Amino acid sequence: MIRFENVVKRFGDNTVLDDLNFEVAKGERVTLIGPSGSGKTTILRLVMTLEDLTDGYIYIDGQPFTYEPRGGRRVRQKQKDINKVSTKIGMVFQQFNLFPNMTVVENIVEAPIHVLGRGKEEAHARARELLELVGLSDKVDAHPTRLSGGQQQRVAIARALAMDPEILLLDEVTSALDPELVGEVLGVLRDVASSTDITMLIVTHEMQFAQEVSDRVMMFDHGRIIEDGEPGALFSAPREQRTRDFLQAVL
Ligand code: ADP
Repeated sequence: MIRFENVVKRFGDNTVLDDLNFEVAKGERVTLIGPSGSGKTTILRLVMTLEDLTDGYIYIDGQPFTYEPRGGRRVRQKQKDINKVSTKIGMVFQQFNLFPNMTVVENIVEAPIHVLGRGKEEAHARARELLELVGLSDKVDAHPTRLSGGQQQRVAIARALAMDPEILLLDEVTSALDPELVGEVLGVLRDVASSTDITMLIVTHEMQFAQEVSDRVMMFDHGRIIEDGEPGALFSAPREQRTRDFLQAVL
């Protein structure tokens, strides 16, 4: 579903990802862990096309995404083709990023109506279903500023799901929350993970959550995968000293 091939990302002369290769299968849940600055968020932002890759290729569902190899050259795809694939990909951010001037339901129906061309009634019906899934049926017409951080993040999850994504990217979605609000957001994500077959790429410091929902964990250091495995094994018996040090610091 997602394949990175020889991906390089530089910011100026800072090489953040250096010839990165990995694959995520359809329906697989993969968590990226590693020290701050190791490139995890950059990977999600590349998939979301919030950053442009310096070199290499990203394939989505087997097709070249932003660039394709053509006649021995690397060619940028047409923006309309990139946009078409982008609608399959949803992201939830650390800082919620809800539209503050819209109600909860308006936040959720905005993209389905304006990007996917869904009918108003259909979009609203789906939004109500999703608000039930995230436990916020009573907040349909509330404004995001009136909600707790945990509630805002649950709206953001519903908003991402309203686009029926095939891929969901979760970028430290509980890091900005007060500790007592983390559980409700992780609970919703557990439900999403167990009730759908959405492919997920997750960046989190919540190791127990990572262990519960992931099929695979990739440990990053300085933009490289230093260890990749099933979470039970990786957490209980890491092979690399750097993984052991990292886990000791966060657990
Ligand atoms: P992580 O998510 O593992 O903490 P990031 O992907 O956020 O790591 O960052 C990796 C590196 O990329 C860091 O050195 C960071 O300073 C740099 N970086 C990220 N975004 C930008 C940007 N927009 N401009 C310049 N440098 C950036």
